[in-house]
Amino acid sequence: MSGGDTSERLVLLGSKGGPAVRPGGPWPSSSLLEVAGRVIVVDCGLGVTRSLTDTGIGLKALDLVFITHLHSDHVLELGPLIHTAWTAGLATPVIVYGPPGTGLYWQHFCQAMNFDIEIRIVDEGRPDIRKLVSVEEFGEGLVLEDGRLKVTSLRVDHPPVTDCFALRFEHGGRSVVFSADTAFFPPLADFAKGADVLVHEAMLEAGVERLVARTGNGARLREHLFASHSLAEEAGRIASGAGAKRLVLNHLIPADDPAIGDADWTAAVRKTWAGDLTIARDGLVVELAGDQAASGEETA
Ligand SMILES: [Zn+2]
Ligand SMILES: [Zn+2]
Repeated sequence: MSGGDTSERLVLLGSKGGPAVRPGGPWPSSSLLEVAGRVIVVDCGLGVTRSLTDTGIGLKALDLVFITHLHSDHVLELGPLIHTAWTAGLATPVIVYGPPGTGLYWQHFCQAMNFDIEIRIVDEGRPDIRKLVSVEEFGEGLVLEDGRLKVTSLRVDHPPVTDCFALRFEHGGRSVVFSADTAFFPPLADFAKGADVLVHEAMLEAGVERLVARTGNGARLREHLFASHSLAEEAGRIASGAGAKRLVLNHLIPADDPAIGDADWTAAVRKTWAGDLTIARDGLVVELAGDQAASGEETA
């Protein structure tokens, strides 16, 4: 656990915005952050357990979980992730940090799985999962300060959800910031000031119009997306204002339109952002150690 700086990395486990999944397509939102010797999962959209396993991280190593807000594309697989880690031999405490309501989610998940939990404790001699896991509900401000790791939060603009928080992880002079889901929100630039990596959600306007045309609930969907999410150009504006060292476009909307590719995202964000850029896809690794801010192949 010590001297882990050489392997510090961010892995984008699930890179699409919204809860829908399609054949061969990307998964909803989740990320792995390995910093300060900790194994941290940020958001638990569907697919997080499989994607985390595919990184080579044993589920038993699960340590800290952060949930930005309670939309299902960020929390649906929280319980199943922890439960699967438990059946894989988890024996060390896990702390889940989330907005108000996270405790109720966990309590009800354990109730829903009561039969299985009780029988595995008796039959397999496992520790009580309800005692291994603690939930800390947070608001805006300092979330965690634990040795080398400091985590702070900023309430962002994601109507009608009011408890939605950007997160800033700081350790050893480096920082990674997640925007969470948000409409263009200028205070984020200050919150992300000087970040080594800013992971910001992004929509592509032309892609949204195609998405809206495909769905039966088009007008309503369009209204929600534009009120609650940021265009790629707006993400670029936040990154520029923050003076971030790298911008990662994530929570992509649309993420699975064959007519939309990296070149389209790049063209949009280059109007407002000239720095290092990564367009997220599932499983993509951003190295954080030393001066190598990121792997080079996706740089554009
Ligand atoms: Zn979302
Ligand atoms: Zn959301």
